[in-house]
Amino acid sequence: MFNKKIITGVMAFAVATTTYSCAFAYTPIGEYYHIPADRMETDNFWDVEVKSNYLQEDKFLEDKIQAPLIKFNPQKLKKAYSKYEDGLKGVYINSVGDTMDSNVSGSNYGGGYISLTQGSLLVNSGSAYKSCNGTTTPKDYNIYALSAIASDYAHECGHWYYDDALSKRDWGQTAEQTAKDSFALEARADAFGIRLLENVPQFSVGGDLISVYRMAQYDGWDTRKENHPTNNSRWNATYNYIREMSKNRVGYENDNDTYNNADSSTFYVRLKNEDKYWEIKVPDQYEVANFANANYKRILYNSADRAKYVMGQVAWAIKNNCWDKNHIAIYKAQEIFNDMPETPFIVYAICVEKNKNEQKIIDWVVTSNEEENSVDFYTESQNQQVNEYISALFDSLDS
Ligand SMILES: [Zn+2]
Repeated sequence: MFNKKIITGVMAFAVATTTYSCAFAYTPIGEYYHIPADRMETDNFWDVEVKSNYLQEDKFLEDKIQAPLIKFNPQKLKKAYSKYEDGLKGVYINSVGDTMDSNVSGSNYGGGYISLTQGSLLVNSGSAYKSCNGTTTPKDYNIYALSAIASDYAHECGHWYYDDALSKRDWGQTAEQTAKDSFALEARADAFGIRLLENVPQFSVGGDLISVYRMAQYDGWDTRKENHPTNNSRWNATYNYIREMSKNRVGYENDNDTYNNADSSTFYVRLKNEDKYWEIKVPDQYEVANFANANYKRILYNSADRAKYVMGQVAWAIKNNCWDKNHIAIYKAQEIFNDMPETPFIVYAICVEKNKNEQKIIDWVVTSNEEENSVDFYTESQNQQVNEYISALFDSLDS
């Protein structure tokens, strides 16, 4: 019924395996050894950092970003409830950055104190780069924006976990001495961060690709081959991790110079045990609240960045042997998201349930109203795009 494209053996996946040779002083990627912060780091935060960085504590980030990361990663993260207790403290917003400037996404100060920049929150909350609507508090159902923001916080959690902030010379420490040291630290924080996202139902590893891409749209792609941490190397590492999670079954059509795909709304799922790829063309996601007219809907999140989210979640499902009809569960979206408004349309959430403790939200979809003489959510062509998207997604399930 739907015109689906099957391509066979077209994807030439030349995945570069990156090996990080860390400076000897650091715990390498994949090894977990938490280093608690020193008391002086906590004091330094209050005596110096709060004042000089114009930091504001933010309850929204604590509840919507930090809390789920801790809840679903109890082995790695913990909350501190007193000043000198080891653990994550409040989450702060640093007032730097504007709706275009996402150059610096966040900072780890030691002692469990982390901030995200105003600029990165605005940029990640917007439907696309430079399309910010001024809010830094995305709704629960804006799983795409929340995943991008969570990836920035999760990266800083990596710096907290290994106490990378402890770098002041007058504290007897010199953490980042060379570009190679700096690369190792950043790559390790990235690797730690995406593994935190992996465990949270509503956060996708693909959120990291969203965040990196939006930074790159401000800065340009940095493809230098030296030991610098670059947005290009971070993109490749996260993309390769998604490929690995999916047992090389999920990806873009061509992943030579993978970041060239960053603007693509289409990804592919290779059918299990077959050399056939389903093309999944992801449409824009529209805002459901305050809907008035099919022709004047506001885009909640653009198709290419929504695709990054879905790609990461499908990869998780494949990794956990759950990308099949037995593990898919469809809910009314209002049951999943408390703030999803009631509408004349049926909004459903597509989830994958490995067991009662491990679940993932794949995406949510608005159906057009089938009652006669009622308003439509989609234009005719949008309706077709959504139908094709959902159809292709379900056709890629393992039998
Ligand atoms: Zn970092």
